[in-house]
Amino acid sequence: MTNKTVQGIHGYGSKHWVGDGFPVRNIFPSNGVNNEVSPFLMLDYLGPAYFPPSETPHGVGEHPHRGFETVTIVYEGVLAHRDSTGSSGILNPGDVQWMTAASGIVHEEMHEGEFARRGGTMHGVQLWVNLPKVHKMSKPGYQSILNQDIPVLDVSDGVSARVIAGILPGATGPAKTFTPMNVFDVKMKAGSRAEFELPEGHNGGVVLLHGGASVDGNSLKGEAMIAVLSRKGTGISLSAETDSSLLILTGEPINEPVAQYGPFVMNTQDELRQAVEDYRSGKMGHLS
Ligand code: MN
Repeated sequence: MTNKTVQGIHGYGSKHWVGDGFPVRNIFPSNGVNNEVSPFLMLDYLGPAYFPPSETPHGVGEHPHRGFETVTIVYEGVLAHRDSTGSSGILNPGDVQWMTAASGIVHEEMHEGEFARRGGTMHGVQLWVNLPKVHKMSKPGYQSILNQDIPVLDVSDGVSARVIAGILPGATGPAKTFTPMNVFDVKMKAGSRAEFELPEGHNGGVVLLHGGASVDGNSLKGEAMIAVLSRKGTGISLSAETDSSLLILTGEPINEPVAQYGPFVMNTQDELRQAVEDYRSGKMGHLS
């Protein structure tokens, strides 16, 4: 078995607010990491950030998406969402929302009301996953994946992995995906080591959210960094110098043109113009 190799190590790019509720560090693509992690389009690391008590919940109001999926993992804090399909829900720590925007959805993402009144720390990630052309105009929907439904594997001494999507020997993630991918939420204790089996031919990255860890002997220290992995190879070895939180992302590349305009990710400029028109004319619906 040949391991995947680290193609590059990148710190986060932009640091900005999404609405008034989500201060994020963008782990890609604002740092130039782009097609080499297809099918993944974007990764924001939210917080950790403390919000004092507020009667008016912070967040990001009504906005559209088309052509891809948004995956939100909450580590701390409580989120509330509503969308134009009439769905709504709450994400508690450990929960994951896997939203398929596909042909179009309009939603809001807010701090949950009681959490806002109490005040507290918001901490999580949002990952954007591209859809292949054949599914970009499929029906929108979402999977509400509860913490208790996500298998946790003891990978080795001091290393645990929550399998959100894909397969690790011993567990299959609950997320249904349109193309093959793995999303693992990994915790490593200082001094621990682990080997992960990863598919040949998948793009991928090991994301260090917090701590200090080595990926195939390459040291990452700090926060919100990514080690981009080679397509070739079938595994990766990790070791942690300090207690670390990581994400392992791998996926079969989508070899199609990517055209993006804000919250719309399609294949052509014409399709982007159509998306803007459809949103403006109300075809993606509205929040009731
Ligand atoms: Mn959104």
